[in-house]
Amino acid sequence: MTPDAIDPEAVAPSVANLETIVSLSKRRGFVFPSSEIYGGINAVWDYGPLGVELKNNVKRAWWRTMIQDRNDIVGLDAGILMHPQVWVTSGHVGSFSDPLVECAECRRRFRLDELPGTEHLSQTDLRDETVTSRLGLVCPFDAKPLSAPRRFNLMFTSHMGPVEDDGNVVYFRPETAQGSYVNFKNVQQSSRKKVPFGIAQIGKSFRNEISPGNFVFRMREFEQMEMQYFVRPEEGAAEAFEYWLPRRKAWYEAYGVTPSRLRFREHAPDELAHYAKKAIDVEYRFPFGWKELEGIHNRGDFDLGNHAKASGANLEYFDQASGEHFIPWIVETAAGADRAAFTFLIDSYREEIVRDETRVVLGLHPDLAPYKVAVLPLLKKRPEIVEMCHKLLADLKRDMMAVYDDTAAIGKLYRRQDEIGTPWCVTVDVDSLEDGAVTVRDRDTMTQERVPLEGVKRLIMDRMAAVRP
Ligand code: ATP
Repeated sequence: MTPDAIDPEAVAPSVANLETIVSLSKRRGFVFPSSEIYGGINAVWDYGPLGVELKNNVKRAWWRTMIQDRNDIVGLDAGILMHPQVWVTSGHVGSFSDPLVECAECRRRFRLDELPGTEHLSQTDLRDETVTSRLGLVCPFDAKPLSAPRRFNLMFTSHMGPVEDDGNVVYFRPETAQGSYVNFKNVQQSSRKKVPFGIAQIGKSFRNEISPGNFVFRMREFEQMEMQYFVRPEEGAAEAFEYWLPRRKAWYEAYGVTPSRLRFREHAPDELAHYAKKAIDVEYRFPFGWKELEGIHNRGDFDLGNHAKASGANLEYFDQASGEHFIPWIVETAAGADRAAFTFLIDSYREEIVRDETRVVLGLHPDLAPYKVAVLPLLKKRPEIVEMCHKLLADLKRDMMAVYDDTAAIGKLYRRQDEIGTPWCVTVDVDSLEDGAVTVRDRDTMTQERVPLEGVKRLIMDRMAAVRP
């Protein structure tokens, strides 16, 4: 369970250099820097044609596992802007902050706990005003002294309505969870759920991160996939925590992440967020080290208890079986859609030597792959072949993302699809005109099989169903 149990260097990342993924993403249309023609805006990224498919598929896979496959969890889509009191009550106005230090010379600002030499500092150290001078920490750019740390609140603010004054400040939500808490009664009563039950949400969150970076790992605008599980106090929460922890790690494995590149890391008592009684992260071995992929948190009755007090609403649950009234405790599974998509992208990347040439493959799980199938003509000059391709394509597109490409020779077309993770290619050739059969080629094994045209869609759908977790 402890991070020290695994030597970080003993498990190699899937790619040595993050640049490999950044350049593939740009070249093939997964991810672009936002507002690039104006020089970009730090820590915001845009998903291109393939990236939006991948991320949608990740969200769909999560929704399937967390809601569709279960009877005890329902979905919600709450607003990004909420009553400002929500963020006061939740503790975010008071304590959702990171330690910020500034260079006395160049004025650059850094998140203290991300500077070299701070790896083993406790949260108490990170709040200690003497820490930078005591440890002799200096600016990584010009080696000049750094200021004492101060707390920097990560919430973006704006003003609601036409007048800008302190009375109408609104916050861009930094987590989706609060939408589920303030709707607890609405959801519980309308869906007639009995504790234990969950509310799940996918949506944008915003954090004015001090030092964003590592591509889409840490952004200022990002998407979360969070589930709040409402349980009986204390033992109910301990039980739910033990239930969800292995399942959330197993979810990444089921969709193809290499198990040895995943681990758990428990938060030290002084590292716990203001709301948490216990927190364990699922971490992934990124090219830049072991980092959080998802957090499982026991939030106790902090949220519903405080919202009940501050709003005056009765947020107690009545348990008919025992006749008890209680404020449910909450166990949360908090994942990031961008961070998960990024992980699947990195972990599926491989380079192989095939006939003296390097073949780049994204071995994405078929449910996550942007295109499930590519339809390719062997000879694009034969109109009958092209016509057959388009008929097949139209039929496939009724049920899945499919694409046609005739802009290169077949070998090159296969490599292009391998590089974006398309699990199957279907090739129409001269013989197809005679025998009504086509060649289906598998991305991973590169084996080819001859299949009657009318059986192609069934074959692909059956193969997808067979590997679906
Ligand atoms: P960190 O310690 O990395 O700042 P956190 O502990 O504050 O993260 P949570 O509040 O637990 O993160 O958020 C839940 C999940 O949301 C994270 O595990 C991550 O997947 C995602 N997430 C959080 N912040 C960001 C961000 N700035 N960019 C992208 N994803 C994020």
